Amino acid sequence: MHETSLARKLLDAALQRAPEGRIVAIHGWISDAEALSAESLAFHFHAHAQNTRAQGARIAIALERLSARCCGCGEQYAPEHEVTLCPRCGSAEAKLLGRRGVGIDSIDVEPENR
Ligand SMILES: [Zn+2]
Repeated sequence: MHETSLARKLLDAALQRAPEGRIVAIHGWISDAEALSAESLAFHFHAHAQNTRAQGARIAIALERLSARCCGCGEQYAPEHEVTLCPRCGSAEAKLLGRRGVGIDSIDVEPENR
């Protein structure tokens, strides 16, 4: 499923960005174009993170809203499900703004007990 592959991606990215220590929290974002909830992502993340350094990490994922700018009149608006249709002039030509997919802003790490 989509959620589970994104969660996997998030986990891999976190482990890569924090090569040492125990990952206690991940702060990041998910694009609303991915059409899934942060809760669902966290659920799948926890499933993948079993027996890794990120097990039990707190997931603080904010929803990143997509916006679009009309190529015709320059109006900026929020597209519905990535359908770009300018509310002002009706043009379907638009440039999508904002980040896509899922990403990490910062990671909280604690030293591992050895
Ligand atoms: Zn327009």
